[in-house]
Amino acid sequence: MTERFPERDIQSIKTLLSGSKKIIITTHHRPDGDAMGSSLALYNYLKLKGHEVRLIVPSDYPDFLHWLPSNDQVINFEQHAIKSVELIGLAEIIFCLDYNSLSRIEKMEPVIRESKAQKILIDHHLYPENIFSHSFSYSSASSTSELIFQFIDSLGDASMIDKSIAECIYCGIMTDTNSFRFASMKSDTHRIIARLMEAGAENYKIHENVYDSSTENRLRLLGYSLKEKLCVLNEFRTAYIGLSEAELKMFNFKSGDTEGLVNYALSIQGIRLAAFFSEKDGMVKISFRSKGDFSVQELSSEHFSGGGHRNASGGRSESGLDEAIAKFLAILPQYKEKLMQD
Ligand code: 5GP
Ligand code: MN
Repeated sequence: MTERFPERDIQSIKTLLSGSKKIIITTHHRPDGDAMGSSLALYNYLKLKGHEVRLIVPSDYPDFLHWLPSNDQVINFEQHAIKSVELIGLAEIIFCLDYNSLSRIEKMEPVIRESKAQKILIDHHLYPENIFSHSFSYSSASSTSELIFQFIDSLGDASMIDKSIAECIYCGIMTDTNSFRFASMKSDTHRIIARLMEAGAENYKIHENVYDSSTENRLRLLGYSLKEKLCVLNEFRTAYIGLSEAELKMFNFKSGDTEGLVNYALSIQGIRLAAFFSEKDGMVKISFRSKGDFSVQELSSEHFSGGGHRNASGGRSESGLDEAIAKFLAILPQYKEKLMQD
């Protein structure tokens, strides 16, 4: 069974949402398909309910998500900081979606932390921060988008899920489960997908919009990364790719162009740990993926100020690309035993 939200929380959310409210929705820095899918699904639902809703994101996000319904209403904090701070100041309710700690919203953190609005967390990452008035945190859920479906359903509004809301939720579940293939994809999640299709979500169009919309540059960057930059360390069942700022520039890099690259490293036979390092404005962002019991959540939180899920996590380093890779290589021996287990 999928998670049932506690009745007491749902009753108090119903009370909170009675009458028209000023609501802000937020999601994590560099939003992905689940972050944008869950946020826009909730945005479209709350608008239908007659609330004054704004969706404020901490940074830009990939072009392949710009088809999502109501994308034109999204406010980017980096571009509209003053307006965003003003809107957050007026908010009665703030939804925090697809992140577990306010550090994940970067420059928006102090503004949201100081707000007196009721803060509602809906998320599937491990170890949520303990600052929310209501916390719907389920790390076994496939995605935050699946939790948004359950949230709307628990409020008795499943019949309000129209084509737009259904497309947003479908996109979030699809991207966070790598097209319905991860272990987090339960039979109940497939049942939700069926209901989304019945509500009008056109599955083939969503797949096409997200996965068949690469630029030539993006595909050539993929080719370059696999041919020239992929390093395979069979002795640690590990593979990684590192791209410098200059290399990304060679391919006219745009946000989202390296999304999914780390999965190619993980797809090599026998590999259990994959990492992808990329450099931007002197900061190194790292994506970790693993198979089986090996926890990249532990590895990234212990060594790279990051976190996420057991098999998919992210982290960062401020000391340069070569240094970040050198640090990764230096810590691998301490994980060798775990990596070699079946
Ligand atoms: P990605 O590698 O796709 O950026 O992220 C993989 C997962 O790890 C996502 O669920 C994402 O939310 C989480 N994640 C990515 N970067 C960070 C980070 O810097 N800190 C934490 N706590 N989680 C992260
Ligand atoms: Mn997610």
